[in-house]
Amino acid sequence: MRCYGDYHTHSQYSHGKGNIEENIQAALARGLKELAITDHGPGSWNFIRLGVRSASELLVIKREIKALQQKYPGIKLYSGVEANIINREGELDVPEEILADLDIVAAGFHLLIYPPDFSSFQDIILKNRFIYKWFPGKRKEIRKENTEILIKAVKRYKIDFITHPGYGIDIDTYKLAEACAERGTLLEINARHVEELRAFIEAAARTEVKFIINSDAHGAEEVGNFEKALELVEKLALPWERIVNIVK
Ligand SMILES: [Zn+2]
Ligand SMILES: [Zn+2]
Repeated sequence: MRCYGDYHTHSQYSHGKGNIEENIQAALARGLKELAITDHGPGSWNFIRLGVRSASELLVIKREIKALQQKYPGIKLYSGVEANIINREGELDVPEEILADLDIVAAGFHLLIYPPDFSSFQDIILKNRFIYKWFPGKRKEIRKENTEILIKAVKRYKIDFITHPGYGIDIDTYKLAEACAERGTLLEINARHVEELRAFIEAAARTEVKFIINSDAHGAEEVGNFEKALELVEKLALPWERIVNIVK
């Protein structure tokens, strides 16, 4: 069992260490046939360069990828984004016209973002970073709200996959997976955070949803490193047909 493509990797345009060409060379060295660059959206904490500087920078990255595609015809390259969910309406930090221009739209629930207004700060950051920890009685309600926010995003946008579902925030992955299955959105099995996400993947596996395995590489050496994700797939006895980028 092996994966032929990695659809979630970062470059220096966001939180990654390497440049795009280094990711491509690493993917080729690992024998991958497809690679996507999905840097974090502009809503991320940018004083530590977590995300792209602006949504339009995603189009600059796209042009760079297009030029590199000429140089590396042996691998299919995709330009994308790992967009942030920024409020309770499930809004993303990248406008729809830019999303439409990208090959791959991934979306994730991250807490290191600039909330655009106070209610967004309350609904995304305050609840998950503080209230969830300090008030156990509130956890059930927060889990429900987080799940609803993600489902709203899945219904509102054409999202290819949800990155690391359940990482850093509590959600009902079964419910999310049902909504994703209906919309044709994939759930990610993220090789970087396999252990923390095991229970979430297990719950999602009970639905009809399909999965995608990605490295979430933040450096070229991690591109195409799916080992831990493949181990989990085996442990859970998840049929390989449920994972879109696996070949037997
Ligand atoms: Zn992420
Ligand atoms: Zn990522």
